[in-house]
Amino acid sequence: MVQGNGNYERILEKISRSSGLEKAEIERRIEAKKAKLSGLISMEGAAQVVAAELGISFENEKLKINELLPGMRKVNTIGKVMNISPVRTFTTKKGEASKVVNFWIADETSNIKVVLWDTNLILLIETGKIGVDTVIEITNGSMRDNEIHLGSFSQLKPSAEVIENAKTEKVFRHKNIIDLKPGENTDLRAFVLQVFEPRFFNVCPECSKKVTQEGEVFICEKHGKVIPEKRAVSSIVIDDGTDSVRAVLFNEALSKLGFSQLDDTDKFSAEKGNIIGKEMVFTGNVRNNAFFNNHEMIVDDIKEVNPDELIMELEKN
Ligand SMILES: [Zn+2]
Repeated sequence: MVQGNGNYERILEKISRSSGLEKAEIERRIEAKKAKLSGLISMEGAAQVVAAELGISFENEKLKINELLPGMRKVNTIGKVMNISPVRTFTTKKGEASKVVNFWIADETSNIKVVLWDTNLILLIETGKIGVDTVIEITNGSMRDNEIHLGSFSQLKPSAEVIENAKTEKVFRHKNIIDLKPGENTDLRAFVLQVFEPRFFNVCPECSKKVTQEGEVFICEKHGKVIPEKRAVSSIVIDDGTDSVRAVLFNEALSKLGFSQLDDTDKFSAEKGNIIGKEMVFTGNVRNNAFFNNHEMIVDDIKEVNPDELIMELEKN
């Protein structure tokens, strides 16, 4: 949500700069556009419509990664390659063999996933012309959700630009539960609907990996015989009004949620009563749970809802 508001501010500034109109006037037009579309469009979406109506296009501009918004077409940006997935081959609906490869790029503002669908562009990676740490220039990409997709009309080439202080730490992008996809890092605001009893397991005190028990002895694959630490894991169900999702929480996240005594069943049940119905901001990674065949969120962090943000949103609506 912080990310969302930040994007909105940035797009607003860009429209103001390019059009010469006051920010207040642009905001008024955006509000009007949003009202006309019965609120079915996000503030960022409405801002893009207003930009298009003012004849402002981002086509000829190089955008910073944190200025790239879902739905944008013909985007240009520069970033340093952080990592590259192996090239995958697949068969198209027409029965043709095709390839796809993903990689992440970063600049000093943010980072983003890039998906290549064009075999000529993929060749740049297969031949090593583009690799990890190469600074690349993307022309004519299109945004699908929070990814840049490159097809045969897109261009990709190494750039001479130098990027220092590339922001490589995970960027969490605000999403609604109904739009979650596996592999994404996201933050979302949701209510706790259900909390399940924790399960406990033993980890190595050095590397935090699960240990195996052999009789009285605990063995870490890497550190051998260790005195393990007990960890808890619990599932909860959260709901943001668009849908609900199962979220998996480990010790630290459980205590941030408000549990003080995980291995005391009575206390856990008592505290659970206060936690159900709470609204919090959850940050984590989405993955597919093969057993339940649905999405689940592995929660990294939980924060209280920031009251200033709530007020800002209420004022906007
Ligand atoms: Zn270990």
